Amino acid sequence: DSVIYWMRMQDLRITDNRALAQASAQSQENNVPLLALFVLSPQDYIAHDRGARRIDFMLRNLRELKASLADVNIPLYVTSHAPRRTLPEFILSLLKKWNASHLFANIEHEVDELRRDIRVCQLAKESNIACAFVNDKCVIAPGEVTTKDGRGYTVYSPWLRAWLPHLTPKSGEDPLAAAARPAANPKSIYQNKIFGELFSIPVPEEVEGFALEDADEKERLSICWPAGEDAAHKILERFLYTMARYAQLGAVDPLSEGADSPTKNPEKNTRIGKYKDVRDRVDADTTSRLSPYLASGIISARQCIRATLELSGNKNQVVDASRDTGVGRWVQEIAWRDFYTHILALYPRVSMGRPFLEKFAGVKWETNEEHLQAWKEGRTGVPIVDAAMRQGLTMGWMHNRMRMTTAMYLVKDLMIDWRLGEKHFMEMFVDGDLASNNGGWQWSASTGVDPAPYFRIFNPYSQSQKADPTGDYIRYFVPELAKVRGPEIHNPPPTLADKLGYPRPLVEHAEARQRAIRRYKTPGQV
Ligand code: FAD
Repeated sequence: DSVIYWMRMQDLRITDNRALAQASAQSQENNVPLLALFVLSPQDYIAHDRGARRIDFMLRNLRELKASLADVNIPLYVTSHAPRRTLPEFILSLLKKWNASHLFANIEHEVDELRRDIRVCQLAKESNIACAFVNDKCVIAPGEVTTKDGRGYTVYSPWLRAWLPHLTPKSGEDPLAAAARPAANPKSIYQNKIFGELFSIPVPEEVEGFALEDADEKERLSICWPAGEDAAHKILERFLYTMARYAQLGAVDPLSEGADSPTKNPEKNTRIGKYKDVRDRVDADTTSRLSPYLASGIISARQCIRATLELSGNKNQVVDASRDTGVGRWVQEIAWRDFYTHILALYPRVSMGRPFLEKFAGVKWETNEEHLQAWKEGRTGVPIVDAAMRQGLTMGWMHNRMRMTTAMYLVKDLMIDWRLGEKHFMEMFVDGDLASNNGGWQWSASTGVDPAPYFRIFNPYSQSQKADPTGDYIRYFVPELAKVRGPEIHNPPPTLADKLGYPRPLVEHAEARQRAIRRYKTPGQV
């Protein structure tokens, strides 16, 4: 007999992993081997717009996991399967081969994944294999935060007020409690040849079609986003406990600075302490940069919130989500992640290319391949948009304010369908998460839950002055403008732009704004 933990790309960790903890307890109880299974599914990566960077990050993390699971005598078997529609049968064939009595996994809330898992449960049931799929991604499971009459929320603020009380322990149950680390199994129980061999099968070097071709890029990304749970926890600690020096822009090792300079005045001087005031600044390193780790589950959202409680020595377990403290503001951001996943679970149409607000389904879009390409490559002639798009290309990550600014620019200034932008971000980012990415795009396109009203359109030049007042961000990512000083950096005059070889703006903002308002006001009209 055996117990199987099926690990997926959103739960790449050993600590505080609910399905793994339950699987481990089951294997201890039955005194049978616990096997961890990971199935690479290239067709799913194509269907879900996964890019090479995300897959490379995943493989790097799987290698770390293989080693740390082996330390507690659990083999991690990484294999590959296609076509994706026969994945349930493939999983079942492995369960049978290993004579499994139990299968454990953490729920993936996306529609295709839910359908697949339902099929796996059916097949397993027919073979008398017990299945448990548990909520682990969200701090509070989708479906639990409801109005008094049992409906889901579609506006963030009331949702947040309803979400918070769920974090407080009730009748002995602590929703933030960490799941137990898997216990070490005696090596002797793996003496069966089939199980023993699983320890020595390596994690593949790459997934065909998803290899990072450029060696420099590979190296740069492994510096920006070091793999493993230890790295994730160090990045969290750096954000919570170290002085905000903000010297770092761009593709640098997040662990190279700060760990040695703990501050004595945590509320005021730490990165998290300053977060309330500076989080929208992009000319410095002002946010946690944990999103790749949260999106792949290398650290859990529970762990992040629990760490904020420890930070303030809060013994009453009252989570601070006020607008007035750095800690509170940061908790609110983590809450957005839960919010968008709840929306995805409640309204699956948002993950099927549909706008949440159906009334905007008929808005007329431009089909301008040149404009789309210029946006992707950071050549729109609007410095802040270009800097942000090049940050995305360089690091596989972009600051939140810049995601909003570039998304709004594509949709409202260039009038290009938000779904093309959504796809491009998924392909480009190391932290691509369907729920958050879709939520962010539908917010920017004014088609989502709690969206930006369609007539409130970001002016990219004033966004630039607010987010990058020093101009350091633009100068760093747009080398053509590296020598420009003063306010001209935000909108260089045409003669200067020509001289520096920097493109002129693709569209005039004021005109584009009017066009967008017209088209949103009367969907269907040009
Ligand atoms: P911090 O400011 O330190 O926040 C901490 C954590 O809270 C983040 O790591 C993230 O997990 C969560 N968070 C913060 N803001 C949001 C938000 N608005 N929505 C959901 N979760 C949030 N985030 C992703 O993780 N994956 C995506 O694919 C993604 N796509 C986006 C697309 C658009 C158009 C927009 C506007 C936002 C998107 N976001 C996405 C949200 C946000 O931009 C990133 O989470 C954030 O920039 C990550 O940086 P950080 O870790 O330093 O954030």
